[in-house]
Amino acid sequence: MSDAMKAYIQEAERDLLHTYNRYQIVLDRGEGVYLYDTDGKKYLDFCAGIAVFALGYGNREYNDALKNQIDRLIHTSNYYYNVPAVGAARKLKKASGMDRVFFTNSGAEAVEGALKAARKHAFLKDGRTDHEIVAMNHSFHGRTFGALSVTGNPKYREPFEPMIGNIKFAEYNDPESVESCLTERTCAVILETVQGEGGLNVADEGFLKEVKMMCSERGILLILDEIQCGMGRTGYMYAWQKYDVKPDIMCTAKALGCGVPVGAFLMTEEVAQSSLSAGDHGTTYGGNPLACAAIEKVLDLFEKDHIIDNVRKTGPYLERRLEELKDRYDCIVERRGTGLMQGLVFDRPVRGIIDSALERGLILINAGERIIRFVPPLVITEENVDEMISILDTCIGR
Ligand SMILES: *Cc1c(COP(=O)(O)O)cnc(C)c1O
Repeated sequence: MSDAMKAYIQEAERDLLHTYNRYQIVLDRGEGVYLYDTDGKKYLDFCAGIAVFALGYGNREYNDALKNQIDRLIHTSNYYYNVPAVGAARKLKKASGMDRVFFTNSGAEAVEGALKAARKHAFLKDGRTDHEIVAMNHSFHGRTFGALSVTGNPKYREPFEPMIGNIKFAEYNDPESVESCLTERTCAVILETVQGEGGLNVADEGFLKEVKMMCSERGILLILDEIQCGMGRTGYMYAWQKYDVKPDIMCTAKALGCGVPVGAFLMTEEVAQSSLSAGDHGTTYGGNPLACAAIEKVLDLFEKDHIIDNVRKTGPYLERRLEELKDRYDCIVERRGTGLMQGLVFDRPVRGIIDSALERGLILINAGERIIRFVPPLVITEENVDEMISILDTCIGR
């Protein structure tokens, strides 16, 4: 490592709060599916900024759209209308099949809004203020208090107790466990269609359908968190579209702006007519012209560049190559996930493998201590997959 890079790291460690054990590289620029550090070293990127940069780096059309918007208008507040927000909402509704949109600045904020909408919806029905929400074990919904309260990982929650009240946790993919948590006070069930942080667990079709049915029968809202698994990553624009289990409220973020910090929660017209109204919720930045110009261009490029077709082609290829790797190593116990959202479960901590991959020019991330997570840009090719597998192979084989 150069002295210049060392100096950047030292300064960052002095000035930034220590909330991450960061990998010891300073990233400087990107090109396609490759990143370069400040020393000019090249990395194949299978992290994509945690499932964010779907289009690959340096996409000319995307960059130009942002530059044009910067020169025109960056921010207005939500007291006024702006043109990119109109287009972004129209296109996001079309992509998701949902009816109404609220733009946020992050995934956690999308979850916050979804939870508030669900509580308000129930409040308008029965006037009670003791509604319950059912969430899943091993879930991840973000770091703000509401989102953290429904995150099924006690390690993340405990130091910050008390959480918001009346949350129950059920077992993922276990409809009976969900049913046993439901009461007359339950206002919503929240779950990820594919769990990301919690270990790349894919919802069974039967589970989703049963939960949806239980919710419909009892007037409970189903909130699907598609922040990581949405935006084409599973080979469907939103993962639930594969099973045709439509949520009442849906959260999206991560790849939605491809790096511009945005999120959204969307709902059906029925929920929209009877939940949040003027004065109930707000955000200074959410849905500003710059963010919405990014969303519009991302959604345009998904269509124009056939991003989902590429996921349907390279996802199964990645899956097959990971299965082969699993068959060759005893230390790999399982492959999980779907599309370009895959995980390899090891019988030991994976940090050492990820560090050695980084040395060899491959960026990988974990999901928990023993799982390597593969969430590359969605424009990845089979050749890129081969390159990744060959580097990973040497790192495991050591
Ligand atoms: C990343 C993530 C979040 C939180 O998003 P932030 O933008 O980091 O606040 C919520 N839910 C899921 C499923 C995620 O993967």
